[in-house]
Amino acid sequence: MTNSSADIIVLGAGIAGASLAARLAGRRRVVIVEREDLAGYHTTGRSAAMYIPSYGSPATAPLTRASRAFFEAPPAGFDGSLLRPRPVLHLAREGQMQALEKLCRRAKGMGVTAAMAHQLVPILRPGIAAGGLLEADAADIDVARLHGGWLRQAKELGAELRLGTGDYRIERRNGLWWLQGEAWTLRAPVIVNAAGAWADVVAAAAGLRPFGLEPRQRTVVLVDPPEHPDFGDWPIVKDVEERFYFRPLSQHLLITPADEAPSPPCDARPDPLDIACAMTRFDAVADHPVRTIRHKWAGLRTFAPDRAPLVGWSPEVPGFFWHAALGGIGIQTSPAASRLAAAMLLDEQTPTELIDAGLQAETLSPERLANAA
Ligand SMILES: Cc1cc2nc3c(=O)[nH]c(=O)nc-3n(C[C@H](O)[C@H](O)[C@H](O)COP(=O)(O)OP(=O)(O)OC[C@H]3O[C@@H](n4cnc5c(N)ncnc54)[C@H](O)[C@@H]3O)c2cc1C
Repeated sequence: MTNSSADIIVLGAGIAGASLAARLAGRRRVVIVEREDLAGYHTTGRSAAMYIPSYGSPATAPLTRASRAFFEAPPAGFDGSLLRPRPVLHLAREGQMQALEKLCRRAKGMGVTAAMAHQLVPILRPGIAAGGLLEADAADIDVARLHGGWLRQAKELGAELRLGTGDYRIERRNGLWWLQGEAWTLRAPVIVNAAGAWADVVAAAAGLRPFGLEPRQRTVVLVDPPEHPDFGDWPIVKDVEERFYFRPLSQHLLITPADEAPSPPCDARPDPLDIACAMTRFDAVADHPVRTIRHKWAGLRTFAPDRAPLVGWSPEVPGFFWHAALGGIGIQTSPAASRLAAAMLLDEQTPTELIDAGLQAETLSPERLANAA
């Protein structure tokens, strides 16, 4: 039996846990506890790797905005810029023009006609769009380098990463949290819930009331790309109401039906019906017959009832911190969200760059859900 202690235990080594541990390491004794053998095995390793300023809600837009500087010039150890420019072509059919107008009010971009859309992405079927918006300042994120960089930084600054812990018990005794595994115990005054789809499960195991977080499954397929010399530079093509999107990704064409079926927390697997739906929606807009599916996966995007992330102290129990419910924006907001979370855990002021970006920390606070319950 090994017994050890820390100042802060971070539960989960996805993008939320890794980025926060990197911010805290060197200033507190941090242990990251990950149930799987591989960090990033769940949602973080299954994303579409996009940075889209208009994506998300008004509560999350400041986090996305404030993260950009980090992505463009990350510290040493991340190996240079983590962004590659790639615009988003938002498409609207007849009947979706109101949604397009709404998007135009919050996204920076250029109006696009059906003919222009076809010029940008020649496989688009003529007449499928009534209009569109080209959001120019979107980009691809190098997620592997980002996640790996956070973990490396955390370890270099003294954090311990414990992989493959399997299940364990959580108890609060004498002002400390105790984790008890098969042959180990670990204690700390503070635990951080960065358990992604399992965040409510972790809360319940620690004796808290779950917030009703909802993991929702999203399916992705990779197919052979069109033979077109500029294919690699094509924009992301996205339905303005997010009924599908497709994009170039590492020599393939990525297609998703942008599905959102509720799911229990699990190792998500693609459902044949969702794959069929991806193909149908793609075929309706693009003239590119798909003969073979090269890869497919699914991941769980976890949402709070109001769809804003949860970043902050539990109002219910001392020493329990939430860093969860990151929905579909956990990668593109990770620099700013982890900066905010670290400031709270270190009892510091909200960083000025977050305030300047328009962040209102109370919109992310767990108290809003406790009060709503
Ligand atoms: C198809 C798809 C496309 C996406 N595209 C984008 C995108 O383009 N841009 C973007 O910003 N976001 C995107 N997202 C969302 C993004 O991937 C998530 O918001 C983000 O990865 C969530 O990170 P996380 O660390 O909270 O969760 P996870 O990565 O799931 O990490 C949680 C970790 O906690 C571990 N865990 C669970 N229970 C315990 C426990 N009791 N103890 C210890 N460890 C535990 C799990 O094993 C897991 O490793 C996408 C998601 C999907 C599925």
